[in-house]
Amino acid sequence: MVATPIGNRDDLSGRAIKTLQECHCIYAEDTRHSRVLLQHHGIVTPLRSLHEHNEAARADLMVAQLRDEGSLAIISDAGTPLISDPGYRIVRACQDAGFAVSPIPGASALIAALSVAGIPTDRFLYAGFPPAKSAARKTWLAQFADQRCTLVLYESPHRIVASLEAIVDVFGPEREMCLARELTKRFETILRGSCSDILNTLQNDDQQQRGEFVLIVGGAVNALNEQADTTELSRLLTTLLKHMPIKTAAKVASEMTGLPRKQAYDLGVRLNGNDT
Ligand code: SAM
Repeated sequence: MVATPIGNRDDLSGRAIKTLQECHCIYAEDTRHSRVLLQHHGIVTPLRSLHEHNEAARADLMVAQLRDEGSLAIISDAGTPLISDPGYRIVRACQDAGFAVSPIPGASALIAALSVAGIPTDRFLYAGFPPAKSAARKTWLAQFADQRCTLVLYESPHRIVASLEAIVDVFGPEREMCLARELTKRFETILRGSCSDILNTLQNDDQQQRGEFVLIVGGAVNALNEQADTTELSRLLTTLLKHMPIKTAAKVASEMTGLPRKQAYDLGVRLNGNDT
């Protein structure tokens, strides 16, 4: 299973190139599309099609080919096969027939987007594409609204605005998110802000509605964490302010909580105001 670039043709690893050159046959989702990439890297291995509609039928043929000819490579149009792309039936069929299936890792839009989102990545849920119809999309999104982990979605240009509108409705306008557009390509754009800010940006600029998208929505826990941080800061400042001026209290509280000094100072001013 060979990962291919998600835009920039040079994001194909040396090992991927070697594997694609040395295998007996490459199965690709769209042979015309993949031929361009293969030609760019001087790969002339025979190419056959493998897509959603012929995956089941291809399994027997591919197992027989593995027995008779040797190794095969599978690629998708972009990124890592099986990630919102076909292939898992083939992997199973080959494994069940006793063949080793090895990953040749590389690009995947969701991982590339997470790496620049500036949103916690310690736990995330990749949910693929939201449903196309408006009512189904909202119901589907609602199941993730209270999830504490980061949510990762894929979206196409025709539905990006409708999906952002639904995200604002379901997750609330203030939930933090990142929109990663056209990663590794000429018009690569990474936007981070509240869901409503990002929706506004796209609504006000048609150019930003073009291309391929990964949407990363911060988990509900982050909102809760912020609340917990503020509560802790407030408790600490209340004690410190009894013994020192606001500026010193803010400095100490900031060092102890890791929160910005300005946030501690502003809260200190408010607390002092409340106390007097
Ligand atoms: N297998 C691919 C992967 O590993 O990322 C995903 C294939 S899925 C059919 C295609 C979707 O991936 C696009 O509609 C878009 O949501 C996302 N995608 C692919 N390339 C992208 C890119 N360069 N920038 C942003 N999103 C991308």
